[in-house]
Amino acid sequence: MTKKSASASIATSISSIRARRSKSGRDRAVTLIPGDGVGPEVTSAAVAVIAATGVKVKWDRQAAGASAFRRFGTPVPDALIESLRRTRVALKGPLETQVAEGWRSINVYLRRSFDLYANIRPTMSFAGVHTPFRNVNLIVVRENTEDLYSGIEHEVAPGVVESIKVITARASTRIAKFAFEYARIHQRKSVTAIHKANIMKLSDGLFLKCACTIAGKYPGIRYQEQIVDAACMRLVTDPGSFDMLLLENLYGDIVSDLCAGLVGGLGLVPGANYGDKGAIFEAVHGTAPDIAGKGIANPIAMILSSAMMLDYIGHQEAGNKIRAATGSVLRAGRVLTRDVGGKASTEEVTAAIIRAMRRT
Ligand code: NAD
Repeated sequence: MTKKSASASIATSISSIRARRSKSGRDRAVTLIPGDGVGPEVTSAAVAVIAATGVKVKWDRQAAGASAFRRFGTPVPDALIESLRRTRVALKGPLETQVAEGWRSINVYLRRSFDLYANIRPTMSFAGVHTPFRNVNLIVVRENTEDLYSGIEHEVAPGVVESIKVITARASTRIAKFAFEYARIHQRKSVTAIHKANIMKLSDGLFLKCACTIAGKYPGIRYQEQIVDAACMRLVTDPGSFDMLLLENLYGDIVSDLCAGLVGGLGLVPGANYGDKGAIFEAVHGTAPDIAGKGIANPIAMILSSAMMLDYIGHQEAGNKIRAATGSVLRAGRVLTRDVGGKASTEEVTAAIIRAMRRT
């Protein structure tokens, strides 16, 4: 790919493009993966909110993860892969991955199989959600395809195992480009590359070198570097001093949850996994097994992820409507789930967001 077409393809991954609207006038096909745990509860909420915007989506519902394993004997049925190949866009609930046993993460598998290399997690404060910080406005940009998530692990000898961290110039350069293009399109001020290159001199050193080279091509956007431990300290004491964070896969995973904590928790933070040819939209949170099936999960992270999906398929106005309605429900503070200090159910919050949308 030439330099110009690489930038163009990143820009189209990021921004809303009308061309993605169904030209035939038919409803846009999107794969819907309800997922495990609270997944079916929060994805139903998002589907109801999208329906209320009036945007017509033809959902292709597909099982994955533990629920697929129970029904079909595999966590990744062929029908799921075929659907994703066809639609190239999915709204996905969280999928269960067992700890220290069982199959490899299906999330990692899907992101790698479809080369969804850029995981974007906008993390903002909401009026009405009480936290120690008011004006958090961070964009976490996480490399999604390599690092310790490469899945290369082996036992060298009994009692000695190795997990290989893979960092390549290709993946580091393209995620850095994605971050800077995002910053340019969304008029963000700075990008901070977060690393541990004082210890992992080769791997994190390469990541930094690539980030720094790309930063040189965007003189209008401030570039900083910070060691991950110091960055975590600064995030929990002065989050306003960061704007966009650029991280490898593992640091990105951990720091995303830390950032969610700054704004009121995992129930509020949406996410998108973008590639050059498709995208999967999902909340940052997992299956929340402790509250699954109780009807009390916060649907907002998934609803905001679905707004990002609408932007992507060319319905930015509808996405903005969802964001505005969600903000107004949080600000009013009357209908909130327990994680953010209320007593309402998933369905009550969803209904309040739909009512707020109808009022505007
Ligand atoms: P988790 O995100 O599921 O839960 C952490 C805490 O946050 C829990 O107390 C939970 O109740 C709370 N929480 C999460 N989402 C919430 C919501 N919408 N509303 C209210 N509270 C919410 O993390 P975990 O417990 O470490 O992981 C559980 C499972 O999820 C594991 O199998 C893990 O592999 C999987 N997981 C999947 C994804 C994904 O599919 N993208 C992401 C993270 C974890």
